[in-house]
Amino acid sequence: MKQRLQAVLERIRQACERCGRDPQRVRLVAVSKTMPAERVRRAVEAGVRILGENYVQEARDKYAQLADLSVSWHFIGHLQTNKAKYVVRMFDLVHSVDSLKLACELDRQAARRERVQPVLIQVNISREESKSGVATEQIEPLVREVAVLKHLELQGLMTMPPFFDQPERARPYFRKLAELARRIESLNIPRVSMKELSMGMSGDFEVAIEEGATLVRVGTAIFGARR
Ligand SMILES: *Cc1c(COP(=O)(O)O)cnc(C)c1O
Repeated sequence: MKQRLQAVLERIRQACERCGRDPQRVRLVAVSKTMPAERVRRAVEAGVRILGENYVQEARDKYAQLADLSVSWHFIGHLQTNKAKYVVRMFDLVHSVDSLKLACELDRQAARRERVQPVLIQVNISREESKSGVATEQIEPLVREVAVLKHLELQGLMTMPPFFDQPERARPYFRKLAELARRIESLNIPRVSMKELSMGMSGDFEVAIEEGATLVRVGTAIFGARR
């Protein structure tokens, strides 16, 4: 595990070097879904700083078992509105806001806890039926609505392209997300920043970095195959 993690960090560093980016601006989210708490603990001991989880109940169990660790938790999966209350308590960043209804509920739960919840909006660039996320043309109106929710802080966008064997084929989707973020940034909407771009997984994170990713979500390349 330690070796695999080191290899991923080295590949991130090299990708940054190739495209002249500061490696400090690319953070690794180690996607630990389905991995038992003890394995996740070893990953954190090996140097993982951010964990990405997809399922609320699973994450709650692990969070309780790993409460002694100093590590940041990010929520990256599809989130049902009725689970928003757990998420606000545990996660430093929610990557997967995909509706105004969910945003409003996260805002309400964050208000109850007197905190401000950082979030990203998930964009469905490829328009695949099976993927969650908001269609590109609906992003601007949603951003404007989320911007006025005082207990949310919108920090950027996330996407998940279709699965390809060749990472190069994912490049156009990453590029489109970066373009969309620049366009939103240029609107200068109060309280909206587009500083984070969450894109790239085990098979394609280097391409995503070349296109501007600031958060790469890598599971298999660190933990091995999921069962
Ligand atoms: C599972 C998952 C990942 C990690 O995928 P790997 O191919 O194992 O690196 C990244 N992002 C999301 C949203 C996921 O669900």
